[in-house]
Amino acid sequence: MEMKVSLLMVGDELLIGQVVDTNATWLAQALWQLGIPVVSKITCGDDMDDIVAAIHASFEKGEWVIMTGGLGPTKDDVTKKAIASFFNTELKFHQETYDRIKSYFNALKRPLNELHKEQSFMPENGEIIQNELGTAPAMLFEFGNKRLVSLPGVPYEMKDLFDREIQRRIKAAIPESPYFYSTLRTIGIGESDLSARIDELPVDWDRDISLAYLPDMAQVRLRISAKGVNNKDAMEKVAKARLILKDKLGRWVYGEDNDSLEIVVGRLLLREKKFLVTAESCTGGLIAHSITKVPGASSYFKGSVIAYSNEVKESLLKVPAQTLKDHGAVSEQTVIAMVRGALITLNADIAVAVSGIAGPDGGSEKKPVGLIYIACGDANNVKVTMLQLNKDRQQNVAYASVAALNMIRKFLLGL
Ligand code: ATP
Repeated sequence: MEMKVSLLMVGDELLIGQVVDTNATWLAQALWQLGIPVVSKITCGDDMDDIVAAIHASFEKGEWVIMTGGLGPTKDDVTKKAIASFFNTELKFHQETYDRIKSYFNALKRPLNELHKEQSFMPENGEIIQNELGTAPAMLFEFGNKRLVSLPGVPYEMKDLFDREIQRRIKAAIPESPYFYSTLRTIGIGESDLSARIDELPVDWDRDISLAYLPDMAQVRLRISAKGVNNKDAMEKVAKARLILKDKLGRWVYGEDNDSLEIVVGRLLLREKKFLVTAESCTGGLIAHSITKVPGASSYFKGSVIAYSNEVKESLLKVPAQTLKDHGAVSEQTVIAMVRGALITLNADIAVAVSGIAGPDGGSEKKPVGLIYIACGDANNVKVTMLQLNKDRQQNVAYASVAALNMIRKFLLGL
């Protein structure tokens, strides 16, 4: 049986753009990984009638409706009342929820108030699933082949409840999904060049495979999706297509599925048994942050010098004053000197250095905003690249950091 899910996100804060709806993105990805398509997403405010109408509309598209938000103890959180109205039932005091909230607050040594008592009123007809990381429990309602799931809005609480409790209930309801998808991650090749390379597909290319291009920050994620007679069939179709595409795209592909650039760089450093350091001017530590987001980074990353000023470039990275005077802080010569200095100061095998004019001000005719130099190398060999980006400071810094990670990858692969 094929199952479809509708998402329903509740909260005025989502409608006015105060909070980015990361819950929907996360849930859609988690569901896709189970092979379940999300067929609709509705965002609605904290208004009871609107929520009831949105629940009805969501069930027109999917057999399961997963909603988040609006479960807190405050008056503006009306999801439970809307659910009770949808089922034409009442909210009843739920002792287990109250005990759970009480012990949660006891552990934090904080007092309970009347609102928490109110939060323990739940619709009569649902399964209440306790929240281990917060106060609002999740709820699951079954009627016929339909299910309504209500999760708290706080992202880490929502994720924990989904992973711990909801996922297995979904799996039990659908033993087999006919869908499968996988992602190839590419870097350094634009969407149109990528598509031109892929255009000439082999004659035995499976017509049930669909491709989608997701460009972002010098990278394009290529999603390969298939529908088969069953999950195994879809998975095999995707695996075959992935091999063909990898062969066509060669060195542009740096990873698959959840491999981020920093994970891939980490893996290469571990394999080579090399230690990396960074010397960062305009990226202000962003490259080091990306690297250290990955658990276990201490096995291949030593540290960083954030050399934002010329003073630090000279004192900690031993960039000669003459180099800075003759060529400026944003120059090929300076980033090469930064790499050499970082290798010695931080005693490492490989260093990457970045210096640029992130903007929005500080450019000149000779050195405009968006001019960025990156160097990467070891004691024997240092490579340099120059980027001319645009005027957006945040974008320039993020792009430079990605480009630096890619330079490390290429250096380690000898590309
Ligand atoms: P709790 O009782 O634990 O507060 P709740 O269900 O009442 O949970 P809300 O009050 O709706 O949750 O939202 C709590 C916070 O969670 C919001 O301030 C917002 O920061 C975040 N949040 C809510 N919905 C989303 C969403 N769709 N995506 C990302 N963050 C969200």
